[in-house]
This record gives sequence, structure tokens and C-alpha cells, in this order.
Amino acid sequence: MRDMENFDFNIRKFNTSNIYSYFLTHDDATKQDLVSNLNLTLPTINKNIDYLSELGLIQVCGSRGQTGGRRATTYSLCSQAKIALGLDITKHHVACVAVDLYGKIISFKRTWLVFENTDAYFKSVSDLLKDFIADNKIDKKKILGVGIGIQALVKSDNKTVFYSQIMDFGEDAYNRFCKYIPYDISMFNDAKAACFAEKWVDKDIQNAFYILLSNNVGGAMIINGQVYSGNNFRAAEVGHITLVPQGRLCYCGQSGCVDPYLAASNLSQDDLAGYFKTLETTTDSRVLDDWDRYLYYLASTINNVRSLMDCDIILGGYVGAYLEPYLEDIKKRVLKISTFDSDTEYIKLCSYKSESIAAGAALHYISQFIKTI
Ligand SMILES: [Zn+2]
Repeated sequence: MRDMENFDFNIRKFNTSNIYSYFLTHDDATKQDLVSNLNLTLPTINKNIDYLSELGLIQVCGSRGQTGGRRATTYSLCSQAKIALGLDITKHHVACVAVDLYGKIISFKRTWLVFENTDAYFKSVSDLLKDFIADNKIDKKKILGVGIGIQALVKSDNKTVFYSQIMDFGEDAYNRFCKYIPYDISMFNDAKAACFAEKWVDKDIQNAFYILLSNNVGGAMIINGQVYSGNNFRAAEVGHITLVPQGRLCYCGQSGCVDPYLAASNLSQDDLAGYFKTLETTTDSRVLDDWDRYLYYLASTINNVRSLMDCDIILGGYVGAYLEPYLEDIKKRVLKISTFDSDTEYIKLCSYKSESIAAGAALHYISQFIKTI
């Protein structure tokens, strides 16, 4: 008898979750849409529409049908029934985003704040977040949690920082955030968070490698639809592949890593938009030579990753957002040095042109919430 009850419960949950998923991927739906697309009976649809409406997760949004005929009521997602917040913490900035249940960024703000491993800094971050919530009139009761993207490696508990050479977070960063931020908190490596955001946009991604080309170079990989962390949570650290033996010094202490060749600072210290604007028209051979060298190293890195992983490669981060006009050039360069490939459709540009890290960190909470329905 207990088995039968469990079975009924599981079926009910499965149906509810399927119906809710339909609203997450469609602007609106009538009951008839749900009956025909989900292969469920009308009484099941009715029960679930009532249930999801009571929870405040869906709403009546209009009607559809022939004028004169009986119009069917349409329902849609209450996209802001819950909201997740995301932070991207870098050496000089803190970005705050709010993300709705579709995963859409509904507000964001980037503020200059120089990182230091002090209590005062963590309090300042909390104050920024408090202002962000107030300025955007976000209902605190709807906040699922705060995802924090940081330039450090974090264990799967999303609390323990274990490698933070770029920014000295220290081991108690999680507790210090918790001291001032009164919401559930999870911390993520920046590239892993950005990669999660890309996967959110393109749900069909099965295997892909994400290269974060920002002030430092990070990476993340998706295998069988999941972000893969490795045995020691250090997977996909493409920034520390040896690109040029005995080459430039990397912040990690080694020489010749990808990071010192592909970090955005090779192109511009603080005005990447200005750099790419200049690049469009410049005839300055020094600028063009530097760019040519950057693309040479980028093509080598892409080829290395492709040879190893045999999957799509997504170029993201600050630089990735500007690569559209240069994509064909990059593809040609990679093809020239490729052993196996005869086409380079696998090289893709990021969907998020900004705030992918903060959004990805926030999406963790949206994804978790959706799984509970
Ligand atoms: Zn390195």
C-alpha cells in the first residue's frame, strides 16, 4: 500500500513539474495546449493549474481564440514569484544582479570597490547588496539566495575556498559573507558560474568547454550536461596549461601558462571597449602585431583544448564579448593547426556579453528552486 501511495505521489509530482517546466519555456499556454503537448488529461491539468496558481507560481494572463467563439483562458509564469541574486567579485568591482525564474537578468549594477581581505570590505559588499535590493524594490521574501562568483577555486560545498592566488579571500570568506549578508549564500569559481549561465541559455549543450578570457583566464567544462569539477575541483583550469615552455611568468608561480598570454590585460589595462573600438580602424603596426600575437596564442589554446576534449568550445569573459568580428579569423587560424577538424563550427561565442558570472551564480538558486516543484 505504501508503495502505491509513493507511486501516486511521484506521478503527481512528475506531472506538476512537467507542467511548470512548460511555463518556464513558453510565454503562455491554455489548458488545451497543456493537454495536447504534455499528453495529460484535462482533470490533471485543472488540478495542477489550481495548485500552481495557489502557490503564486502561475497566473491568468489573457485569453485566446476566435472572436464570437468561446475564448480559452491563457496562463503564464509568475516570473518574479522568486528572485535570485548574484554577485561577481573582482579586484576592483562588485557586480550585483537579480535574476527571475526564467533566468533573465532583471536588474544589475556594477560598482567600483577595491578588494581587501578585511571585515570592512565584506561589510561594504553587504551594504552594496542592501542598496541594490532597496533601489530595485526587490521583495526580500522572494529572495532565494545569493550566489557569489569569485576568482578562486571553491569546493563542491560552495563554501570552502582552497586556492585564491589572484584575490586573497582566505579560508573564512564564506563565514565573513554570512556575517553580513542575511540570505542563503553559495560561492562559485567565476568560470564555473559563467559556464553554468551559458548552459542555462543553451539547454541542449551536452559536452562543451568554456574559456573565460577576462583579466585572468579561467575555464569550465560540461560533460553529459553537467559542469564537471574533477577529482580535486580543479578541472578545466585552462589558464595554467603550459602554452610556451619557459615563457612569461604566471601569477601561479609557473612560467609559460596560458594566463599571461590570454588575459585581457594583454590588450588593455582598463578600457577594453576602447581597445576594440581602436582595433576596428587602427593602422598602428604595434597594436596590430599585439592583436595578431594574441590571436595566435588563442588559436593554439583552442586547438589544445579541442584535441583533448573533442567538444564545443565557448569563448567568454570580457574579451569573448568582443570577438564577433574576429570569429572567422580565429576559426581559420585554428583550422590551420588542427590535426583532425575540417570545420570549426564547434568554436562558439558566449551568449552572455556581460554579467555572466553573477548571473550564473544566481542561476544556481533558480535551478534548485525549479527542481523542488
Ligand atoms: Zn599559471
